[in-house]
Amino acid sequence: NKGERTYLIGGNWKCNGTLAENEALISTFNEAGPIPDNVEVAICCTYVHLPQLLATLREDIAVGAQDCAVYEKPGAYTGEVSAAQLKDLGCVWVIIGHSERREGFGMAGEPAELCAKKCKVAVDAGLKVMFAIGEKKEEREAGTTMAVCASQLEPLAKVLTAADWDNIAIAYEPVWAIGTGLTATPEMAQETHEAIRKWVADNVGADIAKKLRIQYGGSMKGANAQELLAQPDIDGGLIGGASLQADFFNVVNGVP
Ligand code: PGA
Repeated sequence: NKGERTYLIGGNWKCNGTLAENEALISTFNEAGPIPDNVEVAICCTYVHLPQLLATLREDIAVGAQDCAVYEKPGAYTGEVSAAQLKDLGCVWVIIGHSERREGFGMAGEPAELCAKKCKVAVDAGLKVMFAIGEKKEEREAGTTMAVCASQLEPLAKVLTAADWDNIAIAYEPVWAIGTGLTATPEMAQETHEAIRKWVADNVGADIAKKLRIQYGGSMKGANAQELLAQPDIDGGLIGGASLQADFFNVVNGVP
């Protein structure tokens, strides 16, 4: 633990898995031995696989979705899934603002204000949110990493109340490190995590910043987790590729 902060290790299965593949991975996780006391673990899967995980995944791993609708009320939003429906199903977590969604898969992506609004809707529905932020390669090279992170945090700080922050974790995911095998060095990640915490202290509140869990994401795996998680401002991870393998538990067990 870092002060009051317990570690948060999230798995982001993205658009992967069939029922049979999930069944095998769920058995692997269910048999993977105890989860350390100072770690909270969650797996975020596709909407259609939520019932499978909720019914068969070990109870000490929470289940979450990877997005939700921005609308507060049920209604004529064909194809959308609401935060209230996720909560009703038994989800604990939802990822909001993942860079792949902000980017939009070649279609219109999600602007920062929309991500912030979704986050507020999700928290109001009783969900916890892993709110993803991070810079692209050219933005890091231009020296604007923290300006980009701040521009993603600003709309969030505007819509959340102080109490809402208890249900938020920030997932710092440098876009150039996602799915590329290029991890930020522990020093590089720590530097940005520290800057994000300082931004929250200055713009939201010092107490909130102290309690806020900031996860690192981007090619995190068993082999690099220990060094990353040992950094003073890294409170966990959001794991893509490695969460589809038994190696996920090496990350879970990699906490100090
Ligand atoms: P990765 O993905 O671990 O495969 O880099 C992380 C993420 O996108 O959340």
